[in-house]
Amino acid sequence: MRNLIDPWGVSCEIENYERLFTDFGISPFAEILPKIEDPHLYMRRGIIFGHRGYDVVLSAMNKKEDFAVISGFMPSGKVHIGNKMVMDEIIWHQRKGAAAFSCIADIESHSVRGIPYDRCKRIGVGEYILSLLALGFDLDRGFLYFQSENRRVQDLAIEAGTEVSLSEMSAIYGFSSDVKIAHMFSVLVQIADIMQPQHTDFGGPKPTVVPVGADQDPHIRLTRDVAARMRIFSIEKRTIEGRHYISVRLKKPEKDALDELASRLPYETRKYERHIDFDFEAGDGDIKEIERIVREVEIERGGYGFFLPSSTYHKFMRGLTGGKMSSSNPQSVIALTEPPEEAARKVKKALTGGRVTAEEQRKYGGEPAKCAVYELLMTHLIEDDAYMREIYEECKTGRKICRSCKELAAELMLKFLKTHQEERENAKERLREYDFGRKWLSYVV
Ligand code: SF4
Repeated sequence: MRNLIDPWGVSCEIENYERLFTDFGISPFAEILPKIEDPHLYMRRGIIFGHRGYDVVLSAMNKKEDFAVISGFMPSGKVHIGNKMVMDEIIWHQRKGAAAFSCIADIESHSVRGIPYDRCKRIGVGEYILSLLALGFDLDRGFLYFQSENRRVQDLAIEAGTEVSLSEMSAIYGFSSDVKIAHMFSVLVQIADIMQPQHTDFGGPKPTVVPVGADQDPHIRLTRDVAARMRIFSIEKRTIEGRHYISVRLKKPEKDALDELASRLPYETRKYERHIDFDFEAGDGDIKEIERIVREVEIERGGYGFFLPSSTYHKFMRGLTGGKMSSSNPQSVIALTEPPEEAARKVKKALTGGRVTAEEQRKYGGEPAKCAVYELLMTHLIEDDAYMREIYEECKTGRKICRSCKELAAELMLKFLKTHQEERENAKERLREYDFGRKWLSYVV
C-alpha cells in the first residue's frame, strides 16, 4: 500500500536501504530534510535517503559558515547518468556556498583496474570533467584535480596510512594476501581526497560532505575513524553525578600541548597526565568556541584539527534493462556522451512496470516501483513534483499506458542530452582558462 501514497518510494531494493539504518547506523535523511532550504529533488524525493553527520554541514550551510563538498570519479569508462547524480550533488552544495572539490581518481583506476595513466587522463577530462562543467560546476569556486598530479593528497595519504593497519583494511575491503600494495595505497589516497578540503592550504578545518552511493559507507566509516585518529586532541562531554564537564584528551606524544591548551581556554582547568577537565554548563555556542580553540592549538603544532567528514547516501538507479546499471552492459545505461537519438532509442526499449496486456494495465494499474522509465523521469528528467505525482497516479490507476510514458521520457532525454552536449563544448573554453599549463584539454579526443 505504501506506493499508493508515496510516489518517491519506488527505487529498487528499498527494504535493503532501510536495513542500513538499523544495521549500520546511517541516519535517515528525512529527519533533517525540513531544515534544508530549497532542497534538491534527490532530497525531496528520498533518492538521497541517508546520511552520516550531515547536521554539522547543514548547520554551517544555514549559518553561511565555511563548509566543503568533495567527491570523485574513477576514470574507467564513459560518464553516465549514474555519475550525473554525484555531479548534481556536488554542484548543488557548491551553489549553497560550499568550497567544491572533485577529483579524477586515476591512482585508483591505474592501481585497481590497470588502466594506463595516459588513458585515465583522456577519460578523466574527455568524459568526466567536461560533463561536470557542463552540468554547472563553477571553476572559480571549485578545485578539480587528478590524484596523480596532487602531491598534497599523496602526502596526506601517507599520513593516513600511519593510522590504518593491514588487518583493518582486509576486514573492511575483503583484501586477501594477493592484493597488490598499490591497490591498498589507492584506498589511502581516497581517504586523503576526503581530507584535503580541510587542509590549511584550503583554509583549514571545516565541515565537509561526501555525496556517495550507499555502497561507499564502509569507506566513509574508515575515513571518519582515521580523521579522528589523526587529531592531536579529542574532546568529550561528560556527566558524573549530575555534574557536567568537558574532558580534552591528548592523543599524540606532544610535549606541553596540554599546558598550552589550558592557558588558552577561558576556564579553570584540572590537569591530569593525559587530559584536562573543566566544568561546563553552557550551550552549543560555547562548545563550538572550545572546539575552535582546540583546533587552533592543534594546527599551530602541525596537526590537522579535522572535522569528521560527513556523507550523504543516494540510492542506485536500476538499469534500463532491469537489474543493475552497468557500463559493461551499454544497453542498461545512458552515457552522457552518447548520441541523443541512440539514448532515446534505449529509453523506448527500457523495462517498464507495465502489465502484460493493455486490459490488465487498465484493470490493475502499472507498477512504477518496478519501472526503469519512471525512475528516469523521477531522477533526471522532471523537476516538477506535481507533474511527477500526476504520472504516478495515472500509472497506478491504469489511466496511463507505457508507450506514452516511454515517448515522453525518450523526448526529454533527447532534449537533455542535446543541451548537455552543447554545454560540454562550451565547457572546453572554461577549462582552457583554468588549465594553468596542465594541458588537460590536449587529452580531449
Ligand atoms: S505507465 Fe509509465 S510509469 Fe507506469 S509502468 Fe508504464 S512506463 Fe512505467
